[in-house]
Amino acid sequence: MNKQFQRHIENFTCGNCGAFVEGNGYTNHCPECLWSRHVDVNPGDRGETCRGMMEPIAVLQKQGAYILNHRCIKCGVEKRNKTSAVDDFDAILRVVAGGI
Ligand SMILES: [Zn+2]
Ligand SMILES: [Zn+2]
Repeated sequence: MNKQFQRHIENFTCGNCGAFVEGNGYTNHCPECLWSRHVDVNPGDRGETCRGMMEPIAVLQKQGAYILNHRCIKCGVEKRNKTSAVDDFDAILRVVAGGI
């Protein structure tokens, strides 16, 4: 079994704002507040044991797409994640404007 490409479809409750998030197998952050959780070593594998909350610290614009820069508040690792169509655009703008 190839552990690089595990796709987990799971719903979760956001550990930051408490929103219920319906998973689609790719969702890795809350569409309401954009916080994520440090669960992956490789994308989607859920192999990370840290499980810390990841704060959206910056938004980068790349060819018209918005890329979220998340930092784990527990271990400090930074990761980049594409925003998705269901993300709250006001929340994205708040990160652009200097964080939450
Ligand atoms: Zn949230
Ligand atoms: Zn972490």
